[in-house]
Amino acid sequence: MDAFFQALCDAVGTQHVLTAPTDMAPYLSDWRGRYQGKARAVVRPGSTQELAGVVRACAADGVPIVAQGGNTGLCGGATPAEDGRAIVLSLERMNRIRAVDGDNNTITVEAGCTLAALQQAALDAGRLFPLSLASEGSCRVGGNLSTNAGGVQVLRYGNMRELTLGLEVVLADGRIWDGLRGLRKDNTGYDLKQLFIGAEGTLGIITAAVLKLFPAIGQRATAWLAVPDPAAAIRLLGLMRSLCGERITAFEIIGRSALDLVLRHIPGARAPLVGGADWSVLIELSDSAGTADLAAELEAALTQAMAQDLVDDAVIARSLAQAQALWSLRENISEAQRIEGISIKHDIAVPVSRIPEFLERAQTMLLEAWPDVRIVAFGHIGDGNLHYNLSKPEKLENEDFIARTPELNRKVHDLVAALGGSISAEHGLGQLKRDELVRYKSDVEMEMMRAVKHALDPAGLMNPGKVLGAVACAPSGL
Ligand code: FAD
Repeated sequence: MDAFFQALCDAVGTQHVLTAPTDMAPYLSDWRGRYQGKARAVVRPGSTQELAGVVRACAADGVPIVAQGGNTGLCGGATPAEDGRAIVLSLERMNRIRAVDGDNNTITVEAGCTLAALQQAALDAGRLFPLSLASEGSCRVGGNLSTNAGGVQVLRYGNMRELTLGLEVVLADGRIWDGLRGLRKDNTGYDLKQLFIGAEGTLGIITAAVLKLFPAIGQRATAWLAVPDPAAAIRLLGLMRSLCGERITAFEIIGRSALDLVLRHIPGARAPLVGGADWSVLIELSDSAGTADLAAELEAALTQAMAQDLVDDAVIARSLAQAQALWSLRENISEAQRIEGISIKHDIAVPVSRIPEFLERAQTMLLEAWPDVRIVAFGHIGDGNLHYNLSKPEKLENEDFIARTPELNRKVHDLVAALGGSISAEHGLGQLKRDELVRYKSDVEMEMMRAVKHALDPAGLMNPGKVLGAVACAPSGL
């Protein structure tokens, strides 16, 4: 065994340094099966101290590190490069809940805790941790932080950045930064934790976090609505806000093609309304008090919406099982799309007011360029975030579809930029969108990002080739 492997084994124990191809395989490709990499080893530390030992060994030998949580990321950020130089650093053994502070409404968790386990720990303490994603059974807190995950309740509670008060991070040289402060007010200089949130493992390894808790939910009301078009959906959101205020927890739009994929591929999925609308909205109200009659409130609000022609048809869930069935239609869209075959994914954001314009212009532009392409649009319309995906025309070969990806990306992303939007709303950049970044950020912004990277990871060993690209660690200008 060479000295580097010996140092890894000394840090975490030999049984947690995986090198057999079958043991490493699950860590070397992404959820969509789009990226396949190689690694010298998969290393699974059990504590922050162990993890810091691994990072020090890598720093000493110049070995790149790819942090990995649940490996559910959609941009290839957790997949190592094909050159096989890196190790994959899996956080899955660091999954403890360290503390719950009820009076402070905070929870301190390790980065390898799954989102579902975190939600359960909050519930056990009579609280809510509101981040909610379809991948919550598998994705882990470190991955949620590093991608600044969003999901279906951002409208009310914010994304991961807004849910975080403190972080513990192992820096690129192996030093540990203990920033685990549970403070809602702290104006002592730069807010360093924000650098690591959304950095996709390119600046350091997040090992633990202090996160905000909220009152547990006492009551929910969920409805599936057929709406005339996206413009009506936006007006409906405004009306519902004025009638139901903060109780609107989720407001999701689902295009007909997205629902059709779920009905085709997901066993037990049933259309919620007869007829099938081109656009549907899934809305949920929730309240911490169990006393209000939210279903009645929702029904009354929807009656007003129908009178204003903002809703054509609606079904309100009358039981938890019915609500879950409606949510399952929304949450299975990614899975159904995966079963259907390859697709080009765009996770875009534009100002909420410009969503209808985006949808109209994008459809016209794409169908002019390629009449057979299948547009699958859905997402968090209340946040201005759409998953604007393109599925392969049925008779086309995969390679021919992939060949057109750059052209289609360019069209969609240029339109997004023209509307003042972002080419990555919640999934990050990873290796999927890395090369497009320079087109949409100013030179000043790119130089600031490179300067931060260089300051925190001068040797470029933290997830190289992601976000900024392999050559980007040298600062230019600042
Ligand atoms: P991974 O995939 O393991 O890693 C993601 C990135 O974070 C990589 O760059 C990795 O290097 C880095 N990283 C991981 N852990 C650490 C760490 N401890 N320190 C530093 N860097 C780290 N995302 C949303 O935002 N909203 C959604 O609604 C949503 N829905 C999804 C639905 C499905 C079915 C699937 C498969 C994915 C969905 N995602 C969604 C994407 C994905 O689940 C999220 O991005 C999630 O936050 C990734 O967590 P993970 O633990 O799987 O991270």
